[in-house]
Amino acid sequence: MAEPLLSIEELVVDYGRIRALKGISLSVGQGELVAVIGSNGAGKTTMMKTISGLLKPTSGRVMFDGKPLTGVPAHRVVKLGVAQVPEGRRVFAQQTVRDNLVLGAFLRLRSGQKREVAEDTERMFSIFPRLRERQDQLAGTLSGGEQQMLAIARALLSRPKLLLLDEPSMGLAPVIIDEVFALIERLKAARDTTLLLVEQLAFRALEVADRAYVIEQGSIKLAGSAKELLANPSVQQAYLGAAATH
Ligand code: ATP
Repeated sequence: MAEPLLSIEELVVDYGRIRALKGISLSVGQGELVAVIGSNGAGKTTMMKTISGLLKPTSGRVMFDGKPLTGVPAHRVVKLGVAQVPEGRRVFAQQTVRDNLVLGAFLRLRSGQKREVAEDTERMFSIFPRLRERQDQLAGTLSGGEQQMLAIARALLSRPKLLLLDEPSMGLAPVIIDEVFALIERLKAARDTTLLLVEQLAFRALEVADRAYVIEQGSIKLAGSAKELLANPSVQQAYLGAAATH
């Protein structure tokens, strides 16, 4: 098998005396969409923040594109090609939609890619027509779904090799969640970005993913193809009940 784009090896992360990750290992191959599903407090956000350099692990390591990410500060991780769409979206509310996008492309603009960024912004506007219509509007005035689209578009403008999506469904109405997942499917089909998706809505995540891991209380409990996990009775029982599927 080719070397994975991302691999997490025996990662342990503590918040003081609370051990949030108890030695998890997983990998994401080039062009894959891998989902990590698990309920509240399982450690999903902790894992994402550790990959993106916002948290330092106690032990274990994160390898990206053949190099260790462990200990690399967050701004350098972005430079290496990892973009995170954080939980709860976090767009710059007092900036316009267009300015939020420009901020996503900051490093590229600084390295003289003005024309390419303009082209990519145009591409984002054709993928997200509502962002084009609202480009001069303050991001804080967008609906929750539109803010999620903006957060994803902003992350894509850094041209990441790996996009980390932390609970993109969070706080959104079911019909908007449909739109967000339709977009994730399109990103997957385009195959130019590798995706790591963390979701509480297990059914949604397993429907779009190639492979998935189940995380419970800081440990990986199950791993397999998304199809296998969808058919797994213990996954069905714990995560695919009516309330979890929407
Ligand atoms: P959710 O879906 O609710 O966001 P999650 O799977 O992302 O959950 P984490 O946010 O990673 O879970 O939390 C994992 C564990 O670490 C939880 O027990 C949580 O209470 C704890 N935790 C998270 N952040 C902190 C913190 N800053 N200080 C102390 N404990 C924390």
